[in-house]
Amino acid sequence: MVLEVEVIDDLAHPPRRPEWTCDADGAPWPCDPARVDLADRYAGRPHTLGKILCAALHLAARDLEGSTDAAELHERFVGWPAALT
Ligand SMILES: [Zn+2]
Repeated sequence: MVLEVEVIDDLAHPPRRPEWTCDADGAPWPCDPARVDLADRYAGRPHTLGKILCAALHLAARDLEGSTDAAELHERFVGWPAALT
């Protein structure tokens, strides 16, 4: 799980932890450019993208516990690829 999620550090817009804001533009991660990049990299592999986002969500939920609404966090991390299709 840790290995899978390392790909997000490789993005031009990686998350800054433990805040989970974009390291490039300061927006809540995944910001729009990060989403475009991820959607691009995992085009045709929605299952792999889902796994990576789930892993990221788990890390973020742990880091942001108590400061962010769980449903909102879920939508922010794993809700958006569904909207792409
Ligand atoms: Zn960004």
